[in-house]
Amino acid sequence: MLFRSLNGHSKRVNFETALKKGLAEDGGLFFPEQISPLNKDFINNLEKYSNIDIAYEVIKQFIGDSINETDLKEILSNTIDFDFPLINLENNVYSLELFHGPTLAFKDVGARFMANCLGYFNKNEDKTNTVLVATSGDTGAAVANGFFKVKGTNVIILYPKNKVSEIQERQLTTNGNNITALRVQGSFDDCQKMVKNAFVDKELNNKFNLTSANSINVARWLPQAFYYFYAIKKLKKNNLVFSVPSGNFGNICAGLIAMKLGLPIDHFIASTNVNDTIPRYFKSQVISPKRTIQTISNAMDVSNPSNFVRIQEMFKNFEDLSSSLSSYSFNDDQTLKAVIKIYEDKKYIMDPHGAIGYLGLKKYLINNPKKIGVFLETAHPIKFSKHIENSINVKLEIPQTINKILSKKKTYIDIENYSDFKSKMLNMDFN
Ligand SMILES: *Cc1c(COP(=O)(O)O)cnc(C)c1O
Repeated sequence: MLFRSLNGHSKRVNFETALKKGLAEDGGLFFPEQISPLNKDFINNLEKYSNIDIAYEVIKQFIGDSINETDLKEILSNTIDFDFPLINLENNVYSLELFHGPTLAFKDVGARFMANCLGYFNKNEDKTNTVLVATSGDTGAAVANGFFKVKGTNVIILYPKNKVSEIQERQLTTNGNNITALRVQGSFDDCQKMVKNAFVDKELNNKFNLTSANSINVARWLPQAFYYFYAIKKLKKNNLVFSVPSGNFGNICAGLIAMKLGLPIDHFIASTNVNDTIPRYFKSQVISPKRTIQTISNAMDVSNPSNFVRIQEMFKNFEDLSSSLSSYSFNDDQTLKAVIKIYEDKKYIMDPHGAIGYLGLKKYLINNPKKIGVFLETAHPIKFSKHIENSINVKLEIPQTINKILSKKKTYIDIENYSDFKSKMLNMDFN
């Protein structure tokens, strides 16, 4: 299987090239040229397979012959060595906890997979790859952790100044070694735009082998399909719907890939905060991003979600898309009320992103009461402790991984705009 560009003007490439390039030469996102459904027997018997074997079956057609079976399984076992608990919260409502990896948000799986693959491809090369990544809070930490000391890689993280939580900022800025943090004057969308511009900038490309580690990169995005298989392995039920707290729409797009692979899922709900470009699209059929608004679910403060074009690609037309996907938005007030209610009723502590997933699910279940719903709990509440502790009046226990970085000094470079970014990049010397 090869990847083609969604802009349609670049040649098709294999997994290794799609990973290293990030974006196609015509600026389009890479997309699998075909998606072959998996064996029914496998899908009906997921409980008989280990998480690594499931991951292997799900990803192998996309990797093709870029990595052999033994090495791919080893990469997967380095990627997935933690659990994905499924918690029954209410009658037909489950929370799938995706935050038990090293940086306490769901992005660890994609970031570690990509880092391990790139390390594998670079094993016998002297070339250095420069990994560029824009973050709204959690991606940068996962990428920094995954790529820390990976041979032949330097990582540059762009994050929006004053728009990430204190713990998130520490995770981005206390790594050292091959990780550099850039603190950008602007929003996540501004950071993402700089990364996209860098990829088509001749001077930067002459000096660096640029690779993107955002969910536009197929190596970060596709492994997220595993989560949906793990949930169904545990749940073994029909009539399932998934509510995915969505920002750049990578995770939910991977869920839709899981469905195309044959996983029995009835419907998806893309739950967003007030950055509601996609919920508005479902009403008007027009995509018209507004200025990004800062919220307490900051990893979803995205107004121009990159992966939505991939989602549109999977469906024939708007009706077809609407039959598999709905989208709702919620504000901070509704988010915190949900956190408080679930804490009072169930003693379960949601983070703001998971709470938005929960709200989207509940809204969908009103008109579809027979469905069984899973919302993805995408981050550990400690990452947003200020808001959570204030609303439920409980002191959260600080996990050890976080305790270690709280006393470390933050190191970053301030960036004003693209030309500032470019000149500072051109002055960097990694040798
Ligand atoms: C990144 C992130 C999201 C949004 O995921 P997308 O794939 O960008 O839609 C949701 N919740 C948390 C905690 C995140 O870090």
